[in-house]
Amino acid sequence: MRPKGRGDLESLYFTYPKFEAPKDRGRLSDRTPVAIVGAGPVGMIAALTLAKYGVRSVLIERKETFNDGSRAICIARQSFYILEQLGAVDAFLKTSLGWTTGRSFFRGQQILEFKMPDGPDDKFRPMYNLEQQYIEQFLFDAVAESDLIDLRWGSEVTGLTDVPDGVELGISDTLGSYELLADWVLAADGAHSRVRTIRGKRLSGENYEGRYVIADVQMEHDYPTIRRALFDPACRPGGTVLIHKQPKNIWRIDYQLALDESAEEATQEQTVRDSVASVLAEIGHTGNWDLEWWSVYSANTLALDDYRDGRVFFVGDSAHIVPIFGVRGLNNGLADGQNIGWKLAWVLNGWAGPDLLDSYSPERRGATLDVFANASKSTRFMTPPTLGWQVMRDAALSLSLTHPAMGQLANPRQMTPYTYLDSPITLSSDDAFRAGPELGAVAADVALAEGFLTDQFGAGFTVLVFGQADLDGLDPAVKVLCLPAQGRAADAYGAEDGTVYLIRPDMHIAARWKQVSGGAVQGALRNILNRTEAAA
Ligand SMILES: Cc1cc2nc3c(=O)[nH]c(=O)nc-3n(C[C@H](O)[C@H](O)[C@H](O)COP(=O)(O)OP(=O)(O)OC[C@H]3O[C@@H](n4cnc5c(N)ncnc54)[C@H](O)[C@@H]3O)c2cc1C
Repeated sequence: MRPKGRGDLESLYFTYPKFEAPKDRGRLSDRTPVAIVGAGPVGMIAALTLAKYGVRSVLIERKETFNDGSRAICIARQSFYILEQLGAVDAFLKTSLGWTTGRSFFRGQQILEFKMPDGPDDKFRPMYNLEQQYIEQFLFDAVAESDLIDLRWGSEVTGLTDVPDGVELGISDTLGSYELLADWVLAADGAHSRVRTIRGKRLSGENYEGRYVIADVQMEHDYPTIRRALFDPACRPGGTVLIHKQPKNIWRIDYQLALDESAEEATQEQTVRDSVASVLAEIGHTGNWDLEWWSVYSANTLALDDYRDGRVFFVGDSAHIVPIFGVRGLNNGLADGQNIGWKLAWVLNGWAGPDLLDSYSPERRGATLDVFANASKSTRFMTPPTLGWQVMRDAALSLSLTHPAMGQLANPRQMTPYTYLDSPITLSSDDAFRAGPELGAVAADVALAEGFLTDQFGAGFTVLVFGQADLDGLDPAVKVLCLPAQGRAADAYGAEDGTVYLIRPDMHIAARWKQVSGGAVQGALRNILNRTEAAA
């Protein structure tokens, strides 16, 4: 919602572009390898990943501009690696605000300062704040540069029918309606997914009681980019307030509603203004401020049982809805888009058999269930669901005033990438490893004399070799990266002479060996890609 007198898209700091639906009707129905429903951040990441590997897609978006309201604001380190791989990271680095630190306060007194891991081997900061409009704008700028992505604004998918070897989509825009045949469909159409409804799929899980008002405020306020959480503050007795700095002098203020406060009353403009004013008084802001946008939010942990339905894959919010605490909604979705993007590209390019696609749902649904486990803990802490939880939470917070270690309970456990240990395409590991990124985890980065280790990874699979290894029999098209058997990289990977890691296009570790032959590495690739002649 926006203040009275301002339209839905009249932002104080962002100019929404207006895009038109396709006018040239000539080739709209030409068959496409991949149709992506929804050009939100996840749909665009999937399209960019496909394009990186030379695969065409049609991206179909109902609206004629980006999502309104700022919505997601925190982008995690691993998402920056995804953006970097897609050649889109520079704009994000230029505008976003990197941060490492959070502070929690109980009744006005600081009880915790947490710092997320951030050392010389980290190419990116653990977290960056950026309004979702910019996230979408920068992704769109990258999409617009690709000849392989046909983005159709003002176009709504209204039907989906299975046909032999494909899916037929019904699409309508201001000029009429038409059918489009696609080999594969990605449903990236958000929390209220029409595709999900058409396919008769339902999300299942939990809804939480606690409700928050999310308000974005424009003001010049002198505080670094440090996440603040205020528990039981004077401005919201018994409640919780979160404060985040965003670019362009925008501040996100989330405050919890009491059980007896109605959402309708709480979202009246004057009520929001009064509530925000009391939070600002609490943090000592005495200058001017203006209200940009607000909304009401309650936490859910909901997901589909299976992210695949035949030739349709669900990605992002259409597959799962997660609480905002711990900033996993958008970040989790971006990893979905990358995961299905590279796998579909491998299948469509003939580099892998179709069974590779069976690993998408277990990997990404596994990641969602892990998010649920962490986010549920955070959500119960941020919005205790019962009086019992509230009493326990407040007791822990009170204790933390005198016992600093207890303050760790207020640590929001921010997003970390998921380890695909149980994936059907995660292979073997020697038991002999005592260190290094575990099987299924994302590869560790290491600062080198020039740049970082991940700068040298290939676009496809990378074989990381420490010291000497005989790789006869390995497909010459696979990128092999040789590193000394001693030194910082070897330490980070628990490597010795002959150690080999097999790294996937999305940087996850598929296999690792202390000693291995080229034929065995090739065999591992063949197992992952499920074809006789594996390619990189
Ligand atoms: C109020 C609010 C606050 C949030 N705050 C946070 C936060 O602080 N942190 C966080 O991580 N996440 C937050 N989220 C969640 C985050 O915004 C989502 O996780 C993210 O937008 C998901 O991206 P997506 O691409 O999957 O879906 P969406 O961004 O919803 O995009 C889906 C797209 O599909 C289009 N579409 C829908 N149906 C059709 C159709 N039939 N045909 C064609 N196009 C269609 C829509 O117009 C839309 O553009 C918030 C969400 C909301 C609503």
